[in-house]
Amino acid sequence: MVRAIVGANWGDEGKGKITDMLAKESDIIIRFQGGSNAGHTIINNYGRFALHLLPSGVFYGHTTSIIGNGVALNIPFLVKELESLVSQGVPMPHILVSDRAQILMPYHVLFDTYEEERLGGKSFGSTKSGIAPFYSDKYAKIGFQVSELFEDEAALKDKVQRVCETKNVLLEHLYHKPLLNPDEVLAELMEYKKMVEPYVCDVSAYLHDAIKEGKNILLEGQLGSLKDPDHGIYPMVTSSSTLAAYGAIGAGIPPYEIKEITTVVKAYSSAVGAGAFVSEIFGDEADELRRRGGDKGEFGATTGRPRRVGWFDAVASRYGCRIQGATEVALTVLDVLGYLDEIPICVGYEIDGEVVKDFPVTYKLEKAKPVLKTLPGWKCDIRGIKKYEDLPAECRNYIETIEAELGVPVTMVSNGPGRDEIIMRK
Ligand code: GDP
Repeated sequence: MVRAIVGANWGDEGKGKITDMLAKESDIIIRFQGGSNAGHTIINNYGRFALHLLPSGVFYGHTTSIIGNGVALNIPFLVKELESLVSQGVPMPHILVSDRAQILMPYHVLFDTYEEERLGGKSFGSTKSGIAPFYSDKYAKIGFQVSELFEDEAALKDKVQRVCETKNVLLEHLYHKPLLNPDEVLAELMEYKKMVEPYVCDVSAYLHDAIKEGKNILLEGQLGSLKDPDHGIYPMVTSSSTLAAYGAIGAGIPPYEIKEITTVVKAYSSAVGAGAFVSEIFGDEADELRRRGGDKGEFGATTGRPRRVGWFDAVASRYGCRIQGATEVALTVLDVLGYLDEIPICVGYEIDGEVVKDFPVTYKLEKAKPVLKTLPGWKCDIRGIKKYEDLPAECRNYIETIEAELGVPVTMVSNGPGRDEIIMRK
């Protein structure tokens, strides 16, 4: 059975925690998009980890962790992340890398940095991990697929030469930066070949057999619906699809095999980077939520930047669930809200004097003002509670109000960052 675990919001919903938890009962965990640009924070018996490229299933001996073809594969980063896990006492995980994954090159990181510099105040707030230049090259057909490392070296050399020619025009005339040396790029690729060789696999064929054998498979998404390049807040989005549907493509499996779409929804809102954020709050109110949020405050796992925070946004989250095709919702970080007397939630957007319930396109979103409804707080710590009935009535009311707004059953409630801090409702 294949289950996708994806985010309904702007990312940082706690997908890593849910994946780590569900990986216990799974055989294979796959990353199908994105790269090392975002992080999943996981707290388990080995300690606290921020994973960037590896799937959140690497902590179990019985799982196979896969980097699918849809991922932006930074090979030295992968090797370092594996080394760092092992050095923290995690047994060496079983890793497979798709032979059709493409390689994120050091020049992608440079181009990302140069472009942000060039855009100045109009930048996208990139993490400068090279993701946008990587995917641009993939679709412009000048990327390097892992398989190409294993073909005839003369062909690879020829391609490197051609790629450097186009890159160097931009470096010289647009960015005024040092040029790429094709020999160095080729030497880098040869280094990568050695590093990645032990993991390379025809992943789609492997998964075909695994599905036939009835294995339990998780597709782990990065970021969330609102960062999807097609359905998100374009252009303040990421460069690969964050949707469960893309899991089929980014892993190489039939779309109809994805039976469950576990969509992770955060009990309040947080976002990094630029872009409209209707239910955003500011000042002391925001500082307090930011300080109390997540497991160590709302600060980016990759960049350490303070995250923007706001109230739960029913308009954005309902849309986020719909576009994912959510079959169930995991509601996370609910424990964080226990300090509030009253909790506002955003139930509509006022745009040019009209209240809308459907998530609009970007230019309208930028004009939207939140329509808030206030729910009573529960004023206590709900960590440690294991049964839904044991939650305070106000807390259940908050969950059930959100569930009604989303129109999707909330089957899991996460009341703490740890692996076992979960209330199952199914
Ligand atoms: P991901 O990218 O979706 O995996 O999310 P992140 O790991 O970037 O952010 C989620 C943050 O919330 C991390 O710091 C988690 O440890 C933390 N977290 C996840 N679930 C809970 C929860 O139920 N309660 C609390 N307090 N923290 C949580």
